[in-house]
Order: sequence, then structure tokens, then C-alpha cells
Amino acid sequence: MGDLSRRDFFKNAAGVGLGISFFEPIFFKRGAATAVSAGLPVIISSGGHGIKANEAAWQILSKGGNSLDAVEKGANVIESDQEDMSVGLGGLPNEEGEVELDASIMSGPDRNAGAVGALKYIENPCSVARLVMERSDHVMMVGKGALRFALAHGFKKKDLLTDKAREIWLRWKENLSDKDDWFPPKELKEEDVFQTYGTINVLVVDVNGNISGITTTSGLAFKIPGRLGDSPIIGAGLYLDNDVGAAGATGRGEEVIKTCGSFMVVENMRRGMSPQEACEDVVKRIIKWHGGKADFQDNFVAINKKGETGAASIHKRFRYAVYNEKGNNLYDGAYLLD
Ligand code: ASP
Repeated sequence: MGDLSRRDFFKNAAGVGLGISFFEPIFFKRGAATAVSAGLPVIISSGGHGIKANEAAWQILSKGGNSLDAVEKGANVIESDQEDMSVGLGGLPNEEGEVELDASIMSGPDRNAGAVGALKYIENPCSVARLVMERSDHVMMVGKGALRFALAHGFKKKDLLTDKAREIWLRWKENLSDKDDWFPPKELKEEDVFQTYGTINVLVVDVNGNISGITTTSGLAFKIPGRLGDSPIIGAGLYLDNDVGAAGATGRGEEVIKTCGSFMVVENMRRGMSPQEACEDVVKRIIKWHGGKADFQDNFVAINKKGETGAASIHKRFRYAVYNEKGNNLYDGAYLLD
């Protein structure tokens, strides 16, 4: 921030009576440079687990597969990884200790979408979202109806709560209040410290310039049963237009829903912004809505039809993976606040 302290910055940025908007961010911090791709196909996935998802998606693309199969395969690998505690099997549960999954999928070439919300017992919710898109006249199914639909199509019920996730949930419950009858163990172990967010977006532009995307998650950990985040909502956790590009969000879903985050990113690209500028613009809006501060995290990744990518978040420590002609690499996203 140079000579300007953070406090001065916010004071100056307040700008009341000076004819400038209440909060106008003037800089971003960037980790590594934005990934630059020279051709197609290109895959971008959110988070450190994006590397694994990209690898699986690339396997499909390198055999001549299309963008839709690639995003599904990429996301399936993370959903089925029981060590990943933010998606699918092994995801952290709701406040009752039940794993409830949300997912959405969009297919650019046929301009179609599908989503499932609060889906229990099915390891690969994004594949159920694909079925909703391809084998029903609907876009979104939730809860028991979504489960029945999945079972009708041959998906098998599975207990998605791993011992590791159950232990973390138990620690959370035991530490909620000292006015209930649950006690934590005398000594808390380091691994008992839990994360509450995590999700994956997988976005692909294939060699024909066709775009597909998926967002899949176990959602906010310890949520109230029935809570849907942004991930299953088309336009919030995921959006794409085959003529323009795609965007996906992770982090606190409530803010992404309120700003139609992924839709905004794609519309920004339609109006001429680069994927990087488009993501930063939406992050700025979220921060602006919160008066220049945010005690939560939101992250966006985006790709345009040419395969150019971008990513931005509110706070640092957001990483994303891009697979292009240079291989499969992790990058630090731009962020606005420390
Ligand atoms: N966006 C997800 C939700 O709010 C959670 C996350 O990305 O961490 O459910």
C-alpha cells in the first residue's frame, strides 16, 4: 500500500462529500502472475485440489473428449476423494452430523444447466446434476426428490460421513457451548481445528471452443440442515455462456448469491473485461457492500472463450490450478484485503 496506511486508505476511500463513491478499492495484491494460455484446451479449477481435478479432466480432453465429460470427470475425482473434506464423500456435515451436498453443471454448446441441493448419500452429486440436466425437463432438484431421482437412475446410497469428518463435527459440537451436556476431550489435538469452507469449480474450454463448468461442494460446514449455498444456484456458484466464457465461485455462498457473483463475472467479460478484471470487479462489489471490510472469504475463477483465465478473492491464500500448454500449475489469486 506504499505510504498510505490501511486506516488512511479506508478513511480516504470513505470519500463522503467528495463526490466519489463510498468505497473505491485502489489496488490489488497479486501472487503469481495471472496464468497466460496460448491456445486451447484450457482447464481452470479452484483451490489446491484443482491440480488433481485438472489432471483427470485433461485425461478426457487428451483423448478427444468434450468439455462436459472433462468437467464431470475432474469433479468426480475430488468428490470421491475421502481425504477432501469440502466436497462429496468425506465432506464436513451439517449441524446434525449429516453430509448434505450441493452441485451444479452447465453445458455451453447446448445452453443447458442442472443442479442438485441438500442431496444426501450420493457420492457424486455433480453427476446427478448432469442427469437432472439431461434426463429431466427441470434444472434443479433438492433433498429427498433429488435422492429418489438419483436412485431411479441407478446411483447407490452410501454413508458419506467418514470417521475423520465425524470427529471434527463432534469437536465442533462439544465446543459449541459450555451450557450443554457435551464435553470436549481434555486435550484438543491440532487436527481438531477445522475449516468451514471449501468447494471446487472446474471450468473447461475444449479444443473446439466449447465451454462447460461444474461447482460441487459439501457446503458450509455445520450448516443448518436444508441450507443451500451458492454452489447449486445457476448464476451464483456457477455460470457460463458458450459465446463468452465461464465463472465459478467458492467461499461464503450467501454473499455470492446476493451479488449473482458468477453471472456478474461472465457479464463483465461479455462487456469486454478480461477474466482477471471481471473477477476483481465482483470481489470489489462484495467488499463495497460490506463497507470496505469483510470477515469472510469469497473467491472467483474465470475463463473466456479464448482460454484466458483469471482469479480473485477477498483475502489472500486462495489458489487455483490452470492446465494449459504449459502443463498443470498452481497460482496464487489476486486479493483485495489482507
Ligand atoms: N460456497 C460454498 C457454500 O457457501 C462453500 C465454499 O465454497 O466453501 O456452500
